[in-house]
Amino acid sequence: MSRAHNFCAGPCTLPLSVLEELGEEMVEFDRSGMSLIELSHRSTEYEAVHVDAIQRLRALSGAPDEVEILLLQGGASLQFAMVPQNLLAGADRAGYVIGGSWGRKAHADAALVGEAYVAWSADGAGPTRMPTPDEVAIEDGTTYLHVTSNETIEGVRMSDLAGYGVPLVADMSSDYLSRPIPWEHVDLVYGGAQKNLGPAGLAVVFIRSALLERPADHLPSYLRFTTHAKANSLANTPPMFSIWAMGKMLAWMQDQGGIEIMEKRAQERSALLYDVIDASDGFYHNPVDPAHRSLTNVVFGLPSETQETAFLARAAKAGMVNLKGHRSVGGMRASIYNGLPTASVEALAALMSDFAAGRS
Ligand SMILES: *Cc1c(COP(=O)(O)O)cnc(C)c1O
Repeated sequence: MSRAHNFCAGPCTLPLSVLEELGEEMVEFDRSGMSLIELSHRSTEYEAVHVDAIQRLRALSGAPDEVEILLLQGGASLQFAMVPQNLLAGADRAGYVIGGSWGRKAHADAALVGEAYVAWSADGAGPTRMPTPDEVAIEDGTTYLHVTSNETIEGVRMSDLAGYGVPLVADMSSDYLSRPIPWEHVDLVYGGAQKNLGPAGLAVVFIRSALLERPADHLPSYLRFTTHAKANSLANTPPMFSIWAMGKMLAWMQDQGGIEIMEKRAQERSALLYDVIDASDGFYHNPVDPAHRSLTNVVFGLPSETQETAFLARAAKAGMVNLKGHRSVGGMRASIYNGLPTASVEALAALMSDFAAGRS
């Protein structure tokens, strides 16, 4: 089999070694006579896998002891609701930064649940930048400010995750553990696992313990953060396969050198693509203010739709897939998450140069 260069925005490409290990261990786990996904989630074998994944999340993220780690189903999307359901009860209001499509969705759900105001919004033709802290209008009584650290669809990144003067809640789905988390400024961080951390099936939530004291009795039990915190995310049957696979991906990230290396790679690999775009004399264009360009989702357009179609066909011939931009914005998008081999990014940069020069 030849592996595709897969630039999918999510689910993501995983390292081959992670897939091979899963394959080797799939039928029988640890001489138990069954697969891990057939074991009881209360078994000692599964519990070890579960605890190991959580410990690796703590080690990689550097989360302090007063931050709890929860593994929940429903993806990042369910957190759009769970966060305000749990944090806005008995509180005043929350501010939302809308820097793109995901921030807009998060705000829309929060507004159904409590008082959620727009603290900053990208205006005009399309999101091309994120705010700096002084541009965000924080109202009195703000319990938290919600930000999307990286807008996956528009390819815009928030470079400042500090300096807003109120506790932050951050959706970090598309740059999760590819950049440091500023623990002194955040109260809650969440994201779907399927972009940087593993396969789909769970959201990883980091939550400051003090927030677990907030009243939540009005909520059904699954929707309360306290339910999961008390049970170490084993209140009900967890997505065992996803957690197992994520644990392997996290171990791979640790072997590679951890979050600093993931960040350095994200910087270097995105620069490979942005350099080609910027050196192309306008053949490729990226609308984002260079200081706010995403390091994990590189968006670019070509001069015409005909050229874009030709580019996609040429890329497909070279084994490069999932480069079409989100249907809402068009153009191209190369998602280059933690698990993608650097060789894939290098191959794409070379193809882009050749295509622009008429050599391909
Ligand atoms: C993909 C994505 C989501 C949605 O994640 P699901 O796990 O599919 O619900 C939310 N926010 C951001 C920033 C994303 O990239």
